[in-house]
Order: sequence, then C-alpha cells, then structure tokens
Amino acid sequence: MTLAFITGISGQDGSYLAERLLAEGVEVHALAHALEPPPEAPGVELHRGDLTDSDEVRALLVDLAPDEVYNLAALSSVARSWEEPDLTARVNGLAAAALLDSALLVQEKQGRPVRFVQASSAEIFGEPDRSPQDESTPVRPVNPYGAAKAFVHHMVDVYRHRELHAVSAILYNHESPRRPDHFVTRKITSTAAAIAQGRADVLALGNLDARRDWGWAPDYVDAMVRAARADVPRDYVVATGVGRSVRDFVAAAFARAGLSDWERYVVVDPEFVRPADPTELVGDATLARTALGWSPTVGFDEIVGRMVDADLRQERSASVRP
Ligand code: NAP
Repeated sequence: MTLAFITGISGQDGSYLAERLLAEGVEVHALAHALEPPPEAPGVELHRGDLTDSDEVRALLVDLAPDEVYNLAALSSVARSWEEPDLTARVNGLAAAALLDSALLVQEKQGRPVRFVQASSAEIFGEPDRSPQDESTPVRPVNPYGAAKAFVHHMVDVYRHRELHAVSAILYNHESPRRPDHFVTRKITSTAAAIAQGRADVLALGNLDARRDWGWAPDYVDAMVRAARADVPRDYVVATGVGRSVRDFVAAAFARAGLSDWERYVVVDPEFVRPADPTELVGDATLARTALGWSPTVGFDEIVGRMVDADLRQERSASVRP
C-alpha cells in the first residue's frame, strides 16, 4: 500500500489532497499543529508538529518512510509575508528545504524512490515581462512570499540532481469554498453573500484591476498527484491560462448572490493595496496538459458560483441560529 505524508493538512489543498488519496486507498499521514483531522478526511493519521522543527520532522519521516511527500504547509498569504518576512522565510523556505533533505535521507535508507511535491507558486515570477508564463519564465519574485517559494523551487532542482523524484508544482491561484476568508476571493464571496442577506453593506478591496488566473482547488491537487507519479520528475505550471480581474470576480460573485449593482457596495481602500502586486499572472500549463494528461475541469463562473452558494448557505444557517 502506498503511504503518503502531507504537510499543511488543515489548509484548503491539504483537505482535498487527503480526501483524494484516501479514496484511492493510500495510507495518509500528515503533520499538523492540532490533532483534529479535516472533517472531510477523517481517515488521516495526524502527527502533531511544526514544519520548522526540522529535526523532529526528519525523525518522523524516517520512521514513516513514505512513498510520497506533499509539502503544502506555508504561510500562504502574500500580505502576511510582508508583515512577517522572517517567519515566511523560515516556514516557506528553510523548513521546506529541510523536508526535501529528509525525503532524500528516507530514499537512501530505504533504497527505493521517494516522490516529493513542493507546492510552489506563480509568485516566484514576480512581475513577469511575458504573459502567459511557463516553466522557462525567469524566476524574479517581488515579495517575501515569492522569494521564499523561489528558494525552494531552486532547491527542488538541486535535489533532483541528487536523484530525488522532486517536483515543483508552480500553482496559480486556486479557489474553493474551503479557501480561508482572509484571501480576497473568499472575502468577496462571503461579503457578497452577507450583503445579499442584509447582514453587511460594504466590501472594501484593494486593486480591482489586478489580474489572476483562478482555478478550482481539487484540480490543482490532482495535478500534484499526477506530477508525483509521473515517470520523470519535472516542474509544472498548473494554471487555467485565462486571466480575470478582481473586478470580474466581484461582478460574478455579486451576480450569483442576486445583486446586479455591485458598484454600490464596493469601496477601494488603500489599506488593501499591496506594496508590490503583480498586475497580471496567467499561466501556460501546456506541459502539464501534455505530459500529465491534466486539464482544469471547472470554469471561472462555476468556481465563483460554488463559493457564493456555499457562503449563502452558511449565511442562512447563521441567521437561523438562536
Ligand atoms: P492554506 O489554506 O493557507 O494552508 C496552509 C497550511 O500550512 C495550513 O494547514 C497551516 O496550518 C500550515 N502551516 C503553516 N505554517 C506551518 C508550520 N510552521 N508547520 C506546519 N504547518 C504549517 O494554503 P493552501 O491554499 O491550501 O495552499 C497550499 C500550498 O499551495 C501552500 O504552500 C501555498 O503557498 C501554495 N499555493 C497556494 C495557492 C492558492 O491559490 N491556494 C497558489 C499558489 C501556491 P495551520 O492552519 O495549523 O497553521
């Protein structure tokens, strides 16, 4: 039986990945701050720990001897990376590098391959001078989050040269109703739902013109699993190839919530404008499509719709609670 080890289990992608692997019959172990399995994946074996405790994580990995390691743990917000650049570097950078090294140690001790997937990010490209970006786009991050991810992106290549089956999945934004609401997309859908239910009256946002390539989170998890199991370890851009603005996202969310006049409710607050915000990140996932047979299954309007519907359900149940 395949044994997989996941970090970042309590996050959006961690829960989808665990669900997916458990459904395949994989034995799933995960590192977690708290010993509460995600409600969607109760069969996960949790090990309490922090990724930055590299010695403890290494001992755990050697003990478990997994076949697949998925490193999803991160301070995943660019905004927070400006507030805590040192912690971002420790968690997203140094701790991830130590995990790569531990995976190689397991491989050497066991004498069989260990497959390692690093959840990298389009933010490694910074403000790219080409659109869409692909695996050959220069790595030039413009924020602490992107810089830490860029370091590990390079380390994946270094460990591939040591014969580890290591993959950097260069993930573009991906969303779902499980996205925490400090991210702009979920903030938009939850506030649109609250306004539609008469429980809020304003949505404060930063740059409405920033353009992103938004996909469906379970599709991105699928790409990571495919990349782990491919014959040859490579880096892959994982993206839909379609750019939309924050303004488009807002309009789609308000329309789904039954509000046609979103401009009435949205204010631009300079507090939410990031110091360095790439204006256009759109990915070309041709390599993932051809080499992994991967493709996105859910379009932009449906992603926004599913998020708004989930937030409307949540709003309705909150309003009937005593
Ligand atoms: P998320 O929802 O923010 O989850 C992050 C996870 O990392 C949480 O489970 C968190 O646990 C864990 N974590 C943070 N610090 C940790 C530490 N020191 N030790 C152990 N665990 C720690 O992120 P996501 O959206 O699922 O994203 C998964 C990965 O993909 C991340 O690496 C992210 O940077 C990357 N990525 C995501 C996107 C996207 O659009 N979602 C795009 C590009 C790249 P606690 O909650 O207990 O702290």
